[in-house]
Amino acid sequence: MYIPFRHVGKTPQSFEHVREDITLKGTLSHKEGALFQMKAVMEGRLSVACDICAEQFDIMLDDKIDLLLFDGIYSSSDNGLDIVEMDDKIDMDELLYSEVELIKSDYHRCEQCSEKDL
Ligand SMILES: [Zn+2]
Repeated sequence: MYIPFRHVGKTPQSFEHVREDITLKGTLSHKEGALFQMKAVMEGRLSVACDICAEQFDIMLDDKIDLLLFDGIYSSSDNGLDIVEMDDKIDMDELLYSEVELIKSDYHRCEQCSEKDL
């Protein structure tokens, strides 16, 4: 799903993007210039690999996502903001995919391994 930046105004508009077992829903609004804000929640089920035994298991997602989106190439990099560059339109699949990859790269431990040691 794509949402053109020009369709996003100052008044937050809600969106919902579903892909497989994961739902990304929230609001988009125009902040200033080429900057846009996304406030969303990602919910659903995701299969991850245990870092100890490599077994795949499901985790339930319930993550707040607060992102700044930039229409074009963002040049100044010294304000410490986490900005996602997009060209002309918001690519929901790409956003969802990168959030999912972030979670997958976290440390995960399956139930059996959680019961061992500690
Ligand atoms: Zn394990």
